Amino acid sequence: PKLVAEHKKNGRPTFSFEYFVPKTAQGVQNLYDRMDRMNQLGPQFIDITWNAGGRLSNLTCEMVNVAQSVYGIETCMHLTCTGMPKSKVDNALKEAYKAGCTNILALRGDPPRENEKWEADPHGFRYAKDLVKYIKSNYGNHFDIHVAGYPEGCDDGTDPELLLEHLKEKVDAGASSIITQMFYDVDIFLDWVRKCRDIGITVPIIPGIMPIHTYAAFMRRATWTKCHIPEKWLYLLEPVKNDDVAVRDIGRDLMVELCQKIIDAGILHLHFYTMNLATATRMCLEGLGLIPSLQERTKALPFRPSLGLNR
Ligand code: FAD
Repeated sequence: PKLVAEHKKNGRPTFSFEYFVPKTAQGVQNLYDRMDRMNQLGPQFIDITWNAGGRLSNLTCEMVNVAQSVYGIETCMHLTCTGMPKSKVDNALKEAYKAGCTNILALRGDPPRENEKWEADPHGFRYAKDLVKYIKSNYGNHFDIHVAGYPEGCDDGTDPELLLEHLKEKVDAGASSIITQMFYDVDIFLDWVRKCRDIGITVPIIPGIMPIHTYAAFMRRATWTKCHIPEKWLYLLEPVKNDDVAVRDIGRDLMVELCQKIIDAGILHLHFYTMNLATATRMCLEGLGLIPSLQERTKALPFRPSLGLNR
């Protein structure tokens, strides 16, 4: 089933989990165990990130296969243009197809190493939209294709309005939903969603939620993505920064408030950046009252994200 399918969940918010590919075989095994446990929380789908070429991208294909066929969970495979000649893109898509995967998050990709300038592979693609078009032209409607959106701009400093136009181009190329970069300021996110709607982007927008694990990780991620931290958050978190339990409790309350505002705006799907850890995500879902009962889970229906903000 596709992520964007008919749904009849009576407006109850749904959620999904992103996992990144661990660097070691032991890490992969640990992640499988964790994924298995986290599936009990009832995600509608999971996604697996893509690294620039090499062994780790083979692992993405393997993990997508295991998640689809062993755990039976709808899995979205990230796929990037970094270091990917068309032949490698073809192989990755073939593997995804064989695994029964029907969802791809098509990305330009990060540079291979930090601080390096991104360069297109001479036999590959330059922009995510080129990858979207290529997947569409080779696989028709087999894959639902998703693309990335940036409520607070991209780290390459592209003008926000131009970035929105580029986002629209990606959607017009055939994407059926947008998954966003993480953010801590919900008003910035909701304002950006309105701007997307104003320029004619009508597909569902799925907010990327980064739960708070520790103060250090919280600050590091804000710096890394250059996202705005509301003053209240710093005021509450800074004084307890050396107490991980207090940070997680306050972090849960802040995240629950953020997610609730999103839900109240009519956006009924939350995408969690789990960072391969269960606790902070689970606490947030518990705080929102979103963990379905066993009975509800056995009756789970295909996922369709709502459009939100009256679209
Ligand atoms: P694009 O949409 O292609 O945009 C890249 C740049 O090109 C932007 O500045 C854009 O404005 C510009 N551009 C686009 N079209 C044009 C045009 N026509 N003319 C001129 N300029 C143009 N990275 C990974 O390596 N692996 C992952 O698994 C991964 N997962 C991610 C998941 C999410 C939800 C998000 C938000 C990001 C993820 N990333 C991942 C990071 C992403 O690859 C980087 O942020 C990357 O720098 C941009 O990717 P994009 O797909 O948004 O690129």
